[in-house]
Amino acid sequence: MSARCFVALGANLGNPAAAVSSAIAALRRLPDSEFLAASSLYQTAPVGLKHQPDFINAVVELIAVPPAPTFLDMLFAIEADFGRRRSVRNAPRTLDLDLLLYGDEIRDDPRLTLPHPRLHERAFVLAPLAEIAPDLVIPGRGPVSALLAACAGQQIEKLVAQTAG
Ligand code: AMP
Repeated sequence: MSARCFVALGANLGNPAAAVSSAIAALRRLPDSEFLAASSLYQTAPVGLKHQPDFINAVVELIAVPPAPTFLDMLFAIEADFGRRRSVRNAPRTLDLDLLLYGDEIRDDPRLTLPHPRLHERAFVLAPLAEIAPDLVIPGRGPVSALLAACAGQQIEKLVAQTAG
């Protein structure tokens, strides 16, 4: 069995663009999965606790063979490699990985809720998601394009990739 998955990345400590880029490279190397696409990097103002640096966010698409809880553990292992310390919700972080979707799976478990419970209301997730999967429909929520349009007030900036030379 395998499922089309989307993973959100976020960081706002140290050099967050470097952390997100390295984490994308780590996701490319994950065993038992096939990497399909990565979005651009986006810079976003913090949600929740306001007095902290801006975030860098991105979303990747891959095919995962392990079941969803095992796959989430693999994501936690990558977070741990990047030295994330869990404190309060929305606190500054070296790297945060969220499993947005695991195929059409729907789960209502605090350890793993699918689709991710806050994905439909966050421009910093929806904009990179819509970039790589514009026709995606979120189970129980609707088209990603419509969800993004409803977040028009949220501040988010797509970063243009730096080219050599
Ligand atoms: P946060 O600190 O906001 O990243 O939340 C992490 C906690 O959310 C962990 O305890 C996870 O087990 C739980 N969680 C529930 N659903 C998900 C999901 N879809 N992706 C990542 N973490 C999740």
